Amino acid sequence: MPNIRFKALEQIMQDKFEPVTAKYQKVSEYFARAVFTHEKMQNYLSQKAYDEFQQSIQQNTPINEQLADQIASAMKGWAMEQGATHYTHWFQPLNGATAEKHDAFIDFAGDHDNLERFSGKLLVQQEPDASSFPSGGMRNTFEARGYTGWDPTSPAFIIDGTLCIPTVFISYKGDSLDFKTPLLKSQRAISEAASKICQLFDQNVSQVKVTLGWEQEYFLVDERLYMARPDLHLTGRTLMGHASAKDQQMEDHYFGSIPSRVMTFIQDFEHQAHLLGIPVKTRHNEVAPGQFECAPMFEEVNLAVDHNQLVMDLMKKVARKHKFRVLLHEKPFQGVNGSGKHNNWSLMTDTGINLLSPGKVPGKNLMFLSFLVNAISAVYHNADILRSSIVSAGNQHRLGANEAPPAIISVFIGQELTRILNQIADSPEKDLSDEMSAKIQLNIANIPELLLDNTDRNRTSPFAFTGNRFEFRAVGSSSNCASPMIVLNTAMADQLEKFYKKLSDKMKGGKSFDKVLISLLRDEILTSKTVLFEGDGYSDNWVKEAEGRGLTNVRSVSEALKSFVKKDSEKLFSKHNVFTKKELEARYEISLDMFIKQMQIESRVLGDLAINHVVPTAIQYQNILIDNVKGLKEILDGKDYREMSQPHIDSIKKISGHVKSIREMVSKMVDARKKANEAETIVKSADIYDKKVQIWFDEIRYHIDKLELICDDNMWPLPKYRELLFIR
Ligand code: ADP
Ligand code: MG
Repeated sequence: MPNIRFKALEQIMQDKFEPVTAKYQKVSEYFARAVFTHEKMQNYLSQKAYDEFQQSIQQNTPINEQLADQIASAMKGWAMEQGATHYTHWFQPLNGATAEKHDAFIDFAGDHDNLERFSGKLLVQQEPDASSFPSGGMRNTFEARGYTGWDPTSPAFIIDGTLCIPTVFISYKGDSLDFKTPLLKSQRAISEAASKICQLFDQNVSQVKVTLGWEQEYFLVDERLYMARPDLHLTGRTLMGHASAKDQQMEDHYFGSIPSRVMTFIQDFEHQAHLLGIPVKTRHNEVAPGQFECAPMFEEVNLAVDHNQLVMDLMKKVARKHKFRVLLHEKPFQGVNGSGKHNNWSLMTDTGINLLSPGKVPGKNLMFLSFLVNAISAVYHNADILRSSIVSAGNQHRLGANEAPPAIISVFIGQELTRILNQIADSPEKDLSDEMSAKIQLNIANIPELLLDNTDRNRTSPFAFTGNRFEFRAVGSSSNCASPMIVLNTAMADQLEKFYKKLSDKMKGGKSFDKVLISLLRDEILTSKTVLFEGDGYSDNWVKEAEGRGLTNVRSVSEALKSFVKKDSEKLFSKHNVFTKKELEARYEISLDMFIKQMQIESRVLGDLAINHVVPTAIQYQNILIDNVKGLKEILDGKDYREMSQPHIDSIKKISGHVKSIREMVSKMVDARKKANEAETIVKSADIYDKKVQIWFDEIRYHIDKLELICDDNMWPLPKYRELLFIR
């Protein structure tokens, strides 16, 4: 029987790779060519219609039917000129993917020369059969209807001849079934709360926008090797595989030169991204061999989220053309770094001020400090729900697994800002003297200079201030950025609202604004300072210290998800109109369900591979050894025989030992899986998968990896780490 692993390796060796040439040059010539940008819209609409559209976007008011008709017709006109034949409402259901159902523009209501139609009604709302998307019980099967509704704040685009219209996705009763709906709601909440505070400093601010710049890490694997690894193929990660003799220990991959085969892929993929108006800018190798990163310029959060979803899709498509597969899983390979998706988050006023950037105008820095301190407080008060927003079956292998940020949520702000916050915290509780106030303000005014050469960027913090933004690093590489963004925005909105209330109450006595503000900041700093941590977040000491500080450290997925349905979360999200109690329960249920399914698949694949691939290979090799021992006995006698056969006999015994352990453990895992599948509730089922099923994964793997080392390389059917990780 041909060994599929060797066949794959042979094919790869036969490939010829062209040297890299810069095929695409002037980006400005094709950037956003496939997007119905506002400029294009202006060309296809009357000035009046365009102005009306702009106004409703800015003021967040509904678009009337007549205007929708005009826009639909403009969109269709443009799309058809670009060769589009179909349109689709493009949305982000809760299974983490994107969804689309294409319809042709043709409609027999028109005459033959005018077959293509697209009305405002079709643009604004569609009714896809929603029954196969996760709804967490919010949609009974008899009301399988769900609605998609146009999001005019994110522009339409064309992919493969189909006009894609970004939309929200809600149930028949109006409950959100997607990521976009609550994200838009959270943006509204934060804009309202943040604007009020800004206006105390600057009357001209009327809106505050959230900015997001994501950094996407990923692995590339050769397609032929990938296909020979059912675990990679079906679960996105390797469930077995002995470490390669060389992996990342030489630290020679990070920022090293990008292999030319990969470079050709990246160029191609970036070109496609630029056509779609996605401003990807940075590319580099990551720490692990075969690992890379791509990052765009930051954008308004809603658009940035759409773009990240598109990029993940696009990468996968383009990779296939280059005989690669993209791994977006958080931990595809044991023993080398996993992949995250850093979410760089900040707030920007409609007057163009970055609220998390200390500026040159000293007065503005008190505003900066207000936002900085409140962001810290927001994280402090909402750490558990923030963690819930990023946990998943894949991300659990990163969080707290002695690499990448721990499951403890803490905030890093750097030495200089720590010093300034300490100074404020040490100021007297009441009656801050003019002198002290002036001193503090002088210090605050100096922040930009202080930060300038302050390069002590801590890489081990899950939530780090990086000069003009916070970087949420605990996010998993495959997740939808909207999930953490919704929580962060709502937490911040809540914090700002409370802060504003305290501020306006205290101001009533006609006190000095600066002094009142500083004294309130002092209170916030003192309350939330336990969340601040400047040390090594990967160390064991931190785990102990954090416990002493009362910070939570929930590593179990099924436990962490529970905070979705805690009273505090319900209060927070309903107050700001982001989620109802029902929607939170649904999200909890969907997350549990996804976790269960992933665990179920991993457990099945592991069982299959162990019993049907690994054990037979081991026995086959063991038989060769047995034959050899028998042969030795025929030709040798006495001492010679014993000496020569003993190492083989040892290996034969070792193989038997591992095979026995594998069989026993797989059977225990299957028993536990049965219990999990029979559990009365989804919560119990998830708990059993978490605590009783997945504990076997590494145990079984241990024996498989040992067998990999013992068995004849020629027989081993699964591509090895050294082959998967190093790209030819
Ligand atoms: P690093 O690897 O050092 O963290 P990168 O340059 O790879 O930095 O990524 C930084 C990301 O932060 C980019 O996506 C960038 O656009 C984003 N960013 C910069 N300023 C802001 C901001 N004000 N708001 C949101 N994101 C920002
Ligand atoms: Mg970063």
